[in-house]
Amino acid sequence: MRLPKIISHLALSLPSPLLSTMAWQCSATSNTGLVDNLKHAGLISSPRVEQAMKAVDRGKYVELDPYEDSPQPIGYGATISAPHMHASALQYLEPFLREGDHALDVGSGSGYLVSCMARLVGTTGKVVGIDHIPELVEMGRRNIQGDDPSVFSYAELVVGDGRLGYVAEAPYAAIHVGAAAYPIPDQLIDQLKSPGRMIIPVGKPHGRQELMQIDKDEEGNVHYKELMGVMFVPLTDKHKQV
Ligand code: SAH
Repeated sequence: MRLPKIISHLALSLPSPLLSTMAWQCSATSNTGLVDNLKHAGLISSPRVEQAMKAVDRGKYVELDPYEDSPQPIGYGATISAPHMHASALQYLEPFLREGDHALDVGSGSGYLVSCMARLVGTTGKVVGIDHIPELVEMGRRNIQGDDPSVFSYAELVVGDGRLGYVAEAPYAAIHVGAAAYPIPDQLIDQLKSPGRMIIPVGKPHGRQELMQIDKDEEGNVHYKELMGVMFVPLTDKHKQV
């Protein structure tokens, strides 16, 4: 059975009961088929997100079963998140991924989401992916290079502790965090633009985790909203991961 194997990699998302009935059924044999299935399941409603996910072939970012709707191991204790999780994150962030916006992907791993976000902010925008494992940053760069090297003119992958954000390109209209934070790093909220949105899994490694939407409004007020129960690898110290 597949599920126990996936659970042992501790990187799957467990969406709400409603989503879970649909989400795991989105597997396909091609990237287009996968995105179409995510759309028909109601996980993608924005044509811009659909377009971005169709432009970025997941097969360039993970070798084994790229079009299966489940997380896949990418080494160093990390996984590429499941397609339904990437789709949901892009959907929530889409209003803040406009042409020319700056965006940050914390725990960028395979580089897949950086590529998708780059398609959304366009060549006048800027996307930074940050990961604390140098080998994964290298892998992400190789993946983007093998997909579409022109993305590097408006996106970059850097090595660093993502809990500190990346001041050089702040503030960010959109921040995605691909690992579970506990607690929520203040630096990431500080680096959020007004208005801006962060999507972040929050919770202890083996405890209950919630995917949270953190919005900073025009006046700089911060609003927190729980979206769904999830399970992500922890946003942690490098030595605890590898
Ligand atoms: N979103 C990526 C990877 C998700 S796995 C993808 O879908 O491909 C979580 C990632 O977070 C891993 O790559 C891990 O190395 C990274 N990570 C964990 N703690 C981190 C930290 N403190 N700073 C930066 N990256 C971190």
